[in-house]
Amino acid sequence: MNTLHQSFSVRFTYDVYFTESLFDDSNNTLVSFLQSQQTEGIRKKILVVLDSGVADTHPNLSRQIANYFTHHPVAELVSEIITVPGGEQSKNDESQVDRLVDAVDRHGIDRHSYIVAIGGGSVLDMVGYAAAISHRGIRHIRIPTTVLSQNDSGIGVKNSINYRGKKNFLGTFVPPVAVFNDSSFLTTLEDRDWRAGISEAIKVALIKDKAFFDWMETAATQLAARDKEAMQYLIHRCAELHMQHIAGGDPFEMGSSRPLDFGHWSAHKLEQLSDFSIRHGEAVAIGIAMDSLYSRHLGWLSESDTQRILNLMETLGFSLYHPDLENEAVLKGLSEFREHLGGRLTIMLLEGIGKGVEVHEMDTDLIQQVIAELKASHQSYQSALSTESQPA
Ligand code: NAD
Repeated sequence: MNTLHQSFSVRFTYDVYFTESLFDDSNNTLVSFLQSQQTEGIRKKILVVLDSGVADTHPNLSRQIANYFTHHPVAELVSEIITVPGGEQSKNDESQVDRLVDAVDRHGIDRHSYIVAIGGGSVLDMVGYAAAISHRGIRHIRIPTTVLSQNDSGIGVKNSINYRGKKNFLGTFVPPVAVFNDSSFLTTLEDRDWRAGISEAIKVALIKDKAFFDWMETAATQLAARDKEAMQYLIHRCAELHMQHIAGGDPFEMGSSRPLDFGHWSAHKLEQLSDFSIRHGEAVAIGIAMDSLYSRHLGWLSESDTQRILNLMETLGFSLYHPDLENEAVLKGLSEFREHLGGRLTIMLLEGIGKGVEVHEMDTDLIQQVIAELKASHQSYQSALSTESQPA
């Protein structure tokens, strides 16, 4: 018998819209998108899933959403808006996925309908996963509400939950059908969540775009002071760099490398070791500091560039050390990082600001040395801060 050969490709397209007050009756961004997707003879349903942190800080949101769809009856809003726990708890608790699958079943959400996730990166990851596995894939719309989800996680193609104590162990590659970045959500973020997402912008600038890094240095005090305009520029540029990379490279990560995961091998492990008491973005800042110092030790990154990276993150208010770094299990992050993707261990390091370079091994003694340096510099930074705050 002859071998039968099969080959086809599937094209994915989606837009990321930037707007403010998405659910104001006068805002047509969402309704225009839904109109553009209408198919004659098919009534599409919309199931909304809301992050509890957003629900608490935007108590009128559910009513606003209901009013919006009453004014714009372009799709049938399911009256039950499902609230799920905000933060990593959503990804750590499998029963949240079950709740959503159950709602899909109860409300008859089919593959022409939409699941709309409103929340931070954790909730979007979990909802995207539930959408991807229900009926083999329900269209999902993302409305990211944190800096990190607007500039990185929400605009990409991955979704997941944590499983067996490992980050993102279960998940799929499924692009959303649209993303709506609404800047008004950012006003209610805690300072740490405003800051955390900036680390992903620093990461992508360090491996791809020196000019963006230079800009962040000049805008650092504005960003730290929660300047809206500076943040909007940061989010837009960071999202653009991520999207260009995803489309131009290996969107479904078939190879062995994950360049956008610079600084992430230790970050994922640290999040887990800290029992998720630190945010993903905070752990990424520490991971960037570690891999930058490591690159300097290899003689690839100059002393002054290394200092610029650390200074920028400190000006923004990141802490570049965490006690769980001293747990030897941090080093397991390397093998878990490799296992997640398979193939050869591939870690992104720096050859300069704006220039990443991949390596296939890391020296564990040198990693420990870098951790000791971060601890020492953290201690002296803290004591300098407390001396400054002492009355003269
Ligand atoms: P998060 O989703 O964990 O949210 C942090 C906190 O902010 C939560 O308590 C949440 O309830 C609250 N919150 C969300 N929006 C709010 C708002 N507008 N006002 C007030 N509080 C609000 O944090 P994150 O940084 O957005 O996401 C981190 C997650 O993203 C991690 O799980 C990480 O692994 C994942 N991630 C995924 C990708 C991807 O490609 N899929 C990429 C990067 C990170």
